[in-house]
Amino acid sequence: MSTELPLYHRPAHELSAALRRGEIGTVELARAVFERIRAVDEKLHTYLTVTETIGMETAAEVDRLLNRGEPLPPLAGIPIGIKDVICTRGIRTTCASKILEPFVSPYDATVMRKLHLQRIVLTGKLNMDEFAMGSSNENSAFGPCRNPWDTDRVPGGSSGGSAAAVAAGTAIAALGSDTGGSIRQPAAFCGVVGMKPTYGRVSRFGLVAFASSLDQIGPLTKDVTDCALILNAICGHDRYDSTSADVPVPDFTEFLIPEVRGLRIGIPQEYFIEGIHPEVETAVRRAIEQLSEMGAQIEEISLPHTEYAVATYYIIAPAEASSNLARYDGVRYGYRTPNAEDLIEMYRKTRGEGFGPEVKRRIMIGTYALSSGYYDAYYLKAQKVRTLIKQDFDRAFEAVDVILTPVTPTPAFRLGELVDDPLQMYLSDIFTIPANLAGLPGISLPCGQTREGLPIGMQLLGKPFDEGTILRVAYAFEQANPYHRLRPAL
Ligand code: GLN
Repeated sequence: MSTELPLYHRPAHELSAALRRGEIGTVELARAVFERIRAVDEKLHTYLTVTETIGMETAAEVDRLLNRGEPLPPLAGIPIGIKDVICTRGIRTTCASKILEPFVSPYDATVMRKLHLQRIVLTGKLNMDEFAMGSSNENSAFGPCRNPWDTDRVPGGSSGGSAAAVAAGTAIAALGSDTGGSIRQPAAFCGVVGMKPTYGRVSRFGLVAFASSLDQIGPLTKDVTDCALILNAICGHDRYDSTSADVPVPDFTEFLIPEVRGLRIGIPQEYFIEGIHPEVETAVRRAIEQLSEMGAQIEEISLPHTEYAVATYYIIAPAEASSNLARYDGVRYGYRTPNAEDLIEMYRKTRGEGFGPEVKRRIMIGTYALSSGYYDAYYLKAQKVRTLIKQDFDRAFEAVDVILTPVTPTPAFRLGELVDDPLQMYLSDIFTIPANLAGLPGISLPCGQTREGLPIGMQLLGKPFDEGTILRVAYAFEQANPYHRLRPAL
């Protein structure tokens, strides 16, 4: 128990229990988090919009209900921040883009509706890379977010604000989105837990689309138990999202047993490549040994098409993005240029002024890959390779229950370090992208620190809709280690 920690540093499940026992009040907790935002967010910039008035109102309401002894859902009164790519009724949703700067959604995303049913205290909308394109948060049109462990370093991306907020205590938990690693990579850089559920597990209704066949919403939390609690709240079939899966949702907390005896853990040789930072490799190998000592069965496996994953992703994701982002035309949403003579000029200037350089690069790559004459050579080919990557996993999961890998080749890099080298930036997603292409669930959880004190993460991938086994292994590892209790000194 971390009762000596300030409220904003404690996990949701502890706070939830303390609220119910009357040891703390919801308003007191909300105040602690909003004060924390005031104290550190000028430096970190985890938020694009803070919703203190709305949050404090819910907090007061939850206190009233608690005083009356009403039974409340597990996340009632928990201060939670939302990546600014998820629509919130009446509150700005900018996607960290100039083109959506004035956009206020008329409806709540399904995940928001579900969280409001739990009576969470909404803290605000979190910083991110523009339209979720990026790995460092430096593509935010409103300025980057910083890593709370070292403010000269990036928090990762694109859900950088979400990960940094949970690490710094400007939120107790957060939602992010993951198209190629955007939940798991920042979770690893900031030393928190982040899960991308199976494609279809969580409704994408109200998630602003980047690459619709890859996007998935998921939690960023201070520990594995909180991850299970948020999954319980947000998973499930939704008739407003035709790709959401109509499969039963278990109670994910039932998988939180510190026991891995007999479970088969696959280690893909292709994920321990040259160029991986030695301290990352050492930490992940130590985690493997530890799980083996705890009774898990470690199996060497092969995922032979791994080397094509980044190239495949950087055809498919931009192709879908170029189509999805066609809707920002200055007519239907957000920003419109004030100085255009005719309609074509209005489109051109609105998009020219509204989108940042990385978004433009993706739209151009995607449009090119989809154009006639190139479609077969790029897009169709990429789809075929995507199938091969999926089949690698199908084969591997005949022999193992989960797959364990590093999350990223390096710990958090410095602001500015990769900005001018898009290819190097893209390569930082090499270990996270395959799960998106195959639609598989994956978690990132802390498994060590570098000598400089930067967090290191490990990734567990599971079979489709088997988030439960991932949580079980993650929980067992977490309970045997101190990493989830470390907090950055800010
Ligand atoms: N970093 C990857 C990209 O830039 C992944 C982004 C994401 O998962 N949203 O596309």
